[in-house]
Amino acid sequence: MIVLVRRGADPAAVQATLQGLGLWTVLERGQGAVALRALPASARVDAGRVREVDGVEDVLEPASAHPRVDAQAGLGLALGDLRLGPGAGPVLMAGPCAVESAAQAREAAALVADAGGRVLRGGAYKPRTSPYAFQGVGAAGLDWLRAAADAEGLAVVTEVLSEADAPAVANVADLVQVGARNMQNFALLRAVGATGAAVLLKRGPAATLEEWLLAAEHLLAAGARGVAFCERGVRGFDPATRHALDLSGVALLAAQGQPVVVDPSHAAGRRDLVAPLARAALAAGAHGLLVEVHPDPATARSDGPQALDPAAWRALAASLALPAPVRA
Ligand code: PEP
Ligand code: MN
Repeated sequence: MIVLVRRGADPAAVQATLQGLGLWTVLERGQGAVALRALPASARVDAGRVREVDGVEDVLEPASAHPRVDAQAGLGLALGDLRLGPGAGPVLMAGPCAVESAAQAREAAALVADAGGRVLRGGAYKPRTSPYAFQGVGAAGLDWLRAAADAEGLAVVTEVLSEADAPAVANVADLVQVGARNMQNFALLRAVGATGAAVLLKRGPAATLEEWLLAAEHLLAAGARGVAFCERGVRGFDPATRHALDLSGVALLAAQGQPVVVDPSHAAGRRDLVAPLARAALAAGAHGLLVEVHPDPATARSDGPQALDPAAWRALAASLALPAPVRA
């Protein structure tokens, strides 16, 4: 941001007022004009407020690299009769890492609904680090998930792994999940966007917030009707926890009016840390939680160690004392 100082005004006084707003600047003079250039580390200050400062002639701002993301600020996302985002109560999304059978999906859906969850999660297509690990049941899982959710009045969030599957996944899901490892798979983002879906975009384990916002811009530019951001931990330096849950980033995106969801399960990698991280996420301003819950974690075909069992899930949901969700 560059602030042009009105001729005759005292630049130091303008600079001091801007500093009070959180905008640190350096003074530049040239061709009879005086300008104050904002330092990159300055807090984001609304240009409208800067224009009102006494002695300010004009404010020049670089065009945003993600205008479509900026335009969805404050709006939230409608998922059927459910609203996710600013102004709506926190939305609990939960279910198994992977859909394993029709019965498992039904059991999970009942657990989620009974505890006040509103969205059933579960992957039919699984991105696995090892090619020898369970890769998901595929298309059948989409049907099991949808039927289980419908029986309990839940919405569905499920992951899309390939461009070819985007239409089928968008057809059953209320919220199409793009996984962390695919955040910058631009061909996939275009294919998902082209379905017009609402998307849950997970943050890449090493992605900056700006890269995350630009990935969302890809989705919106391709036709997605809205994007919610899901923080699930980024790669830190300490292997003691699986990932570092970036609640600063959550607080920042939430403050910017974006719908933000936190996945404490993949961040922690172990079930005993899920509840405290979930509570911390809501305290930081998250509008929803994505939690892995399994009817019998000991038999889970993926991510069992981080899945909550039914009792732990009920205890977590009760401890959150969530208000009734706002209807869209
Ligand atoms: C998941 O939600 O099951 C998943 C694979 O998550 P992530 O993309 O965050 O690793
Ligand atoms: Mn998982």
